[in-house]
Amino acid sequence: MIEIKNLTKQYGVIKALDDVSFSVKKGEILGFLGPNGAGKSTTMNILTGYISPTSGHAIIDGYDIIENPKEAKKKIGYLPELPPLYLDMTIKEYLNFICDLKGVEQKKRKAQLDDIMYLVKIGDLRGRVIRNLSKGYKQRVGLAQALVGNPEVLILDEPTVGLDPKQIIEIRKLIGALRHEHTIILSTHILSEVNAVCSNVVIINKGKIAASGSVSDFTSAEGTVNKFMISIVGAKPAIQKVLENCPGVRNVSFVRIDKDACIFLVESTRNLDVRRPLFNELSRASLPILELRPVGRTLEEIFIDVVNKDAVVEQ
Ligand code: ADP
Ligand code: MG
Repeated sequence: MIEIKNLTKQYGVIKALDDVSFSVKKGEILGFLGPNGAGKSTTMNILTGYISPTSGHAIIDGYDIIENPKEAKKKIGYLPELPPLYLDMTIKEYLNFICDLKGVEQKKRKAQLDDIMYLVKIGDLRGRVIRNLSKGYKQRVGLAQALVGNPEVLILDEPTVGLDPKQIIEIRKLIGALRHEHTIILSTHILSEVNAVCSNVVIINKGKIAASGSVSDFTSAEGTVNKFMISIVGAKPAIQKVLENCPGVRNVSFVRIDKDACIFLVESTRNLDVRRPLFNELSRASLPILELRPVGRTLEEIFIDVVNKDAVVEQ
């Protein structure tokens, strides 16, 4: 549905994006994760046709945003970092104005705006002037304008930034409700947001893609339960032998000796929790387990690694 190919963006001497490529399938919610200044807004501004790339392509449902901007833009609803709200208008006036901009037919307007206002829960406030709304409600109006014209793709730039925790939960719920009808890219610098709403994640740092994959690959129980760090008191060869012969164990590697204990990394067959057999076999051999913990990298660890790695290179 969305194809980003080799995007590079140079602002004078600053390379904001450096050969960025990724794609989003229909129906996915992609978390576009990265620290401030990573290049998230730049990518989204290119994808929505607000700025042009120095090189590379952004293609929406087969339409290149540069070659076919009109067709491509029709497919996109965009909530920029700062929603383009006219503070002196009422919600209704503003959304009608957006209908004008997006060319929504008069006779379809009422039903469409009613649906959108119902969905984002601003129907009762339609006569209110936007200036007087709370930040959470302003953000809902921002989301509403992105939904006008019923675009298939939603590009949401840090939709929960600056909101209080209750508002954040509400906006997340709303995004969750939109997932069935739309393909969504959501940028954020908050990890828990990705875990809460996204199916896939792309991590960007300093203009480059640092990691990508499905959220479940990064965080699933399988991914973490598969490997264990185990610390056992006893002689290394005896322990190694028991571990290697333990049912379900696929691979054993020695890590180090820590006082009178040996530490090993044990990998099990996928989807098999090897902790019970490990306990049984080791206790039968009178080898006490001091510690047994699953290892696996959470999204948070990956993110921190990615960000730190670059920081170290720079020093
Ligand atoms: P993010 O949204 O991830 O915080 P941005 O895409 O806004 O990051 O910015 C990426 C980099 O590009 C930053 O170093 C930022 O300072 C720079 N940048 C963004 N917009 C401009 C601009 N209009 N002119 C010059 N530099 C810019
Ligand atoms: Mg930004």
